[in-house]
Amino acid sequence: MASELRRQNGDASQSLDFTTPIGWEERVGYLDGRPIRRLIVFLRSTGCEWVEKTGGCTMCGFYCATSRGREVSAAEYVAQFEYVMNAVDLRDYPIVSIYNDGNIFNEREMPVAAIEKICSYIDGYRNIRKVVVESRIDYSPDEHVQKMKKALNGRQLEVAFGFESANPQVMNLCINKGFSANNFDIFYSRMRGMGVLTKPLLLVKPPFLTEAEAIRDILDTISFCVSRGIDYVDLEVTTVEKNTVVHELWKNNLYRPPWLWSLVNLLQQCRERFGDRAHVYVSPWNYSVESLDWARNCGKCDEEVTRAIERYNCGFDTAEFDGLDCSCRDEWREATTTEDPRTIPERVREQLAYVRNARLSSL
Ligand code: SF4
Ligand SMILES: [Zn+2]
Repeated sequence: MASELRRQNGDASQSLDFTTPIGWEERVGYLDGRPIRRLIVFLRSTGCEWVEKTGGCTMCGFYCATSRGREVSAAEYVAQFEYVMNAVDLRDYPIVSIYNDGNIFNEREMPVAAIEKICSYIDGYRNIRKVVVESRIDYSPDEHVQKMKKALNGRQLEVAFGFESANPQVMNLCINKGFSANNFDIFYSRMRGMGVLTKPLLLVKPPFLTEAEAIRDILDTISFCVSRGIDYVDLEVTTVEKNTVVHELWKNNLYRPPWLWSLVNLLQQCRERFGDRAHVYVSPWNYSVESLDWARNCGKCDEEVTRAIERYNCGFDTAEFDGLDCSCRDEWREATTTEDPRTIPERVREQLAYVRNARLSSL
């Protein structure tokens, strides 16, 4: 179904310019345990090969913002980075994150020559101490990682990767990720051997899980990360993006993004359970593609709770949530008591069959 949805989406618009990036934004980052300014650059790229091979992950709509398989040349990528250098003063940022809506170390998605040239520009900024990129664990060959590490000339390199969940059923049936926690262990020690840092990105509320299961799944996954000595993780909060399985489920009332109260609750539980052994950052849910729905409460308290999460991100202090309340909290509590007696494979089978029938009858 995921592949079918991508195909229906047609080809990339001819008007897309691959010499300008999708955009950039500032977020809080951490160096030596202190919050600092971090620049995120969103490059317009070829698109994730996992989408071409399998239809991709059920919640990810990034492919729509890419060339959808058409090669983007090294010169085009370099031009995009030069565009950012002209528009933003990189001297303000100790950390620069470069994301390509896919896998930076996959030669089919991004030529190594482009990475090396971009790193040579970065080398001109003494203030930049760390560079963060994204890549799937199976599309990150040592050879390419090492080339980037070398080109960064002693700066820290961190590879953020969608680890999503430590539960193999959630990973492969709910998300269609194609790897699991075992592969993570190998990846982690590979990167460590090369002096490269890793940052797992965990998915809050994959499809097919109840609200309470989604909270539990994140707590279990953080516990797994802590057991491997990883003390910083990013939470990626599912949004509804076009041409994805999650979008189809959502249209049929089979998916609701997480409650903001669930985020607050799981951050509070993390603090209690793991203390300083886990620094849990909540990524803002603005991505390179439009979202049709996102983490929310009743509408009245959303802004206040979102602001509290932003403040929490600056120091991981859950006291930011003290005193927050709204009448919708009872509705959220009710939502967390909803159970689904079916197994995950049963849910996936039944819900996808329902969506398929709905799609056929709408033709
Ligand atoms: S989440 Fe990552 S691996 Fe999955 S389809 Fe999107 S870009 Fe590819
Ligand atoms: Zn409310």
